[in-house]
Amino acid sequence: MMTTRLPTQVEPYRLAANEQVLEGCVDLAGMKRLAEEAGAQQGDCEVRLAFGIDAQGRRYIEGRLQAEVSLACRRCLEPMPVSLESHWWLGMVSSDALAAELPGDYEPVLVENEQLNLLPVVEDELILSLPQVVYHDEAECAVSRDQLASGADAEVSEEPAASPFDVLRTLKDKH
Ligand SMILES: [Zn+2]
Repeated sequence: MMTTRLPTQVEPYRLAANEQVLEGCVDLAGMKRLAEEAGAQQGDCEVRLAFGIDAQGRRYIEGRLQAEVSLACRRCLEPMPVSLESHWWLGMVSSDALAAELPGDYEPVLVENEQLNLLPVVEDELILSLPQVVYHDEAECAVSRDQLASGADAEVSEEPAASPFDVLRTLKDKH
């Protein structure tokens, strides 16, 4: 298991010139924006950042991350463990105007005064790699368990939940 912490403040141009690789963990508990998107998290995100300069002279960061997060099941709202993995390319730019000139496979990362704080970079990527919705396997989902316990037959438990439109229709009919 990885125990080194990823450095927070780095000089990315120097790292790119030396083609350096940084590997380490980032604490998920400190990530406020991630908590807003996905609820408070615990544990570590494992990160590997390879700095370099491509054939066109662009300075880049090739990033990989892996983390275990806990997300609410859309069906029963209980937390469930979800593995996140991501692989991405960042092109370093010194202004927003230059970001538009990057080829499509790079996401821009703004470098000011030759300094870069890596924590927001990792947090952004974690948020982007979150799945839209997650569901427990039916056998493990509290909703399915309740239906089994209350004696509902399999046909009923496989029916999808009422759509929001059905609810609206019902409300309309009442008026
Ligand atoms: Zn569930």
